[in-house]
Amino acid sequence: SDTKIAFVGLGLMGVPMAKNLLKAGYQISGFDLNQEVAAKFSDDKGFQFVSSPEQAIQDANLTILMLPDSTIIDALLWGSNGSAGIATQLSKDSYLMDMSSSSPISSKENNQKLEKLGIKFIDAPVSGGVKKAIDGSLAIIVGGKKEYFGEIHSLLECMGKSIVHVGDAGAAHAVKALNNYVSAAGLIAASEALNAANKFGLDPHVVNQVFNASTGRNNTTENKVENFMLNDAFNSGFSLALMRKDVQIALNFIENMNCYANLAKQCVLTAKEADEKLGKGADHTAMFDYVRSAAL
Ligand code: NAD
Repeated sequence: SDTKIAFVGLGLMGVPMAKNLLKAGYQISGFDLNQEVAAKFSDDKGFQFVSSPEQAIQDANLTILMLPDSTIIDALLWGSNGSAGIATQLSKDSYLMDMSSSSPISSKENNQKLEKLGIKFIDAPVSGGVKKAIDGSLAIIVGGKKEYFGEIHSLLECMGKSIVHVGDAGAAHAVKALNNYVSAAGLIAASEALNAANKFGLDPHVVNQVFNASTGRNNTTENKVENFMLNDAFNSGFSLALMRKDVQIALNFIENMNCYANLAKQCVLTAKEADEKLGKGADHTAMFDYVRSAAL
């Protein structure tokens, strides 16, 4: 392929996603603040770890971002503390594809500014976690011009299975934040329910089986309770800090639409309390651990 990719943000998700692009024959210039990630690509062909984002985007016709949040992305694009951003250095007519779970409001603004610079912006957040990132079977939600979607589709197929275009720039980030809010609400509800059931003397494994055969089933009861929660493993690969960020984005969005947001507010509060109590590095499935020990 003559597509040269710059990949910025090689964390838990970025590494397996980049590896699937390399497997398909793409060339990647990768950058992450954490230089230790370079070693993860020692067996991959076509990968070069570079020492700055400016170097990564040189001659790239597609730049992929897989970073934590919009604050970091805005600083990277437009600069911060006197340092220049990379936006003005991106090649004209090249793509900038933000695959992070970013704020839809920031993405809409970034799209307008990038359009003026001749850069084609796409928001393409993903769902499915580290396991599906490794399998190349992520659900990818795409926002931006429909013609861009056509041009980028085959590349996205290297990383994902369900690839859906939902609207203009920012639309996919909105859908992603709302999805993660619904998912977080399910995690918190399951954690509270299983904790109380346990206290009543019930076997939480049996209770969860009943949920899964009944209307209470959700992604947490089906995929997280046995694998990461009741066994105290708390290692799904998606951090509590990122979940907290996602529910905050969803709440901002719902309020921005002037819509009822009572449960979203509670989820933000619970995620904040749990994140502060459990500290840096906690997995989002440790919500169950927080609920078990939380003061009333
Ligand atoms: P992560 O924390 O593992 O990775 C983020 C990476 O970005 C880290 O390696 C960090 O060093 C790097 N980074 C931070 N600031 C940087 C900067 N200024 N320049 C270069 N690199 C920088 O996070 P992740 O789990 O890979 O998630 C990335 C994004 O994908 C987030 O928006 C998250 O919400 C979303 N997401 C995560 C999952 C999951 O299951 N982990 C699933 C779907 C979506």
